[in-house]
Amino acid sequence: MTRATSVAGDPAARAVELLSSMGVTMPAPGSLVARTPITGAALTTLTASSGADVDAAIGKAANAFRDWRTVPAPQRAAVVRRLGELLREHLHELGELATLEAGKIGAEARGEVQEMIDVCEFAVGLSRQLYGRTMASERPGHRLMETWHPLGVVGVLSAFNFPVAVWSWNTAIALVCGDTVVWKPSETTPLTALAGHALLRRAAVEVGADPEIHQLVQGAADVGERLVDDERVALLSATGSVRMGRTVGPRVAARFGRCLLELGGNNAAIVTASADLELTTRAVVFAAAGTAGQRCTTLRRVIAHTDVVAALGDRLCDAYHQLRVGDPLEDGVLVGPLINGRAYTSMQDALARALADGGELLCGGERVIVHGEESYYVRPAIVRMPAQTEVVREETFAPILYVLTYYDFDDAIALHNQVPQGLSSTVFTRDQREAERFLAADGSDCGIANVNIGTSGAEIGGAFGGEKQTGGGRESGSDSWKAYMRRATNTINYSTELPLAQGIEFSP
Ligand code: NAD
Repeated sequence: MTRATSVAGDPAARAVELLSSMGVTMPAPGSLVARTPITGAALTTLTASSGADVDAAIGKAANAFRDWRTVPAPQRAAVVRRLGELLREHLHELGELATLEAGKIGAEARGEVQEMIDVCEFAVGLSRQLYGRTMASERPGHRLMETWHPLGVVGVLSAFNFPVAVWSWNTAIALVCGDTVVWKPSETTPLTALAGHALLRRAAVEVGADPEIHQLVQGAADVGERLVDDERVALLSATGSVRMGRTVGPRVAARFGRCLLELGGNNAAIVTASADLELTTRAVVFAAAGTAGQRCTTLRRVIAHTDVVAALGDRLCDAYHQLRVGDPLEDGVLVGPLINGRAYTSMQDALARALADGGELLCGGERVIVHGEESYYVRPAIVRMPAQTEVVREETFAPILYVLTYYDFDDAIALHNQVPQGLSSTVFTRDQREAERFLAADGSDCGIANVNIGTSGAEIGGAFGGEKQTGGGRESGSDSWKAYMRRATNTINYSTELPLAQGIEFSP
């Protein structure tokens, strides 16, 4: 156990100050405790939504949908444009609140808000590009086309580690698509949710839209389950663990609802013999240790060629030794706290299992006491593994990087894909054949496949999501909007004849 210096003012008072600067009136106290992982102390308490509250929120969103769906999309975008402006105005306040509540360092917390602004801008442009196709009809005097219509109420379940960005990816797109939203944030991060909700409501009021298009409900899994099972929720977009997705997916399917699942990852980098080790080291350190290993896209496995594994291990350990672990409000700190004691225990358990499997701890793994015993800071760990054992195949939501070796590139790809998750992946190489092979159909099986760049920190312009146990959903850019709309195929006969498709004759 090592000790670091600390700076903590009064986080509870600061949280209230930040919330009020973003127009939040503090809700009545209750059983839901908002804590800061920086010290482990309570910031405030809130009342969790009751079953009746959730039913009422879904009802209000369903009512608001009836008119919202008929507002032209470019006009709907006015709300999202204003939200983007308000986020820009409050970037520092919301960022600081995300630091207080989720423990992110300032740069990453502000990056999260920037991502929200980016997706608002994307959605505003998208509002004029909800294109349907026109297809060639096989019948004379006929037109065949498709139109995209709003879907209904979108339920958003979000995870603690991106307390507001994930909500904005869903909400900005859902709103321009003509849907209304009911958001259930992580019970660990209710305060940033209050801020996001207040800013969106303000944006709606200021542009003359119905503020009921957005509803916020607060609480744990039981509150989320009301959204899961309610037939009025046309799409449930759920971001979180595979465990959560396993419960939620089948329940939504059982009522024939739509589900967009963004679940856990077990992201890897193949480092080939020709890799630029300096660039690779920088990319790996950010991807593996950034956000204290608590991103869905965190790099958890390095599969390095036998020729470079030793040199890479040395470079990574040197870089890891220079990482400052500490209070995320302090300048120069790069690794903040784990979200709670459970995360710390699961990290220690995983490390013990890895060592029992023959792993060698190259560096890190130990607890760092920053603000007493109620908060959990760790030095990011690197473990060299003799094989991809069960613990390596699991996602442990903490900064552990497993290093595996390969000799033949086919074996590297096989190892890479032999995990249940399929979110993000990368190859470091100067060999074009290896790069292209990694991106090809028989290469990486992930939803995100990169070359010479880390696994985390995706841009919002691309579709975000992954395969296998990651859930198959896609959010954010490209044509992800299609998940938030329903498609109608239209055939229009402008002739005086009635020819049937496939040349069928049917005349009595
Ligand atoms: P979690 O699964 O514990 O919770 C996520 C959300 O689901 C929370 O709002 C929670 O209250 C709710 N929930 C949990 N069980 C539920 C149930 N049975 N019914 C309804 N709602 C339920 O996840 P977490 O610990 O907050 O976040 C970490 C996990 O999220 C990691 O596995 C990480 O990889 C994943 N994640 C994935 C993405 C992605 O885009 N793929 C993004 C961020 C986080």
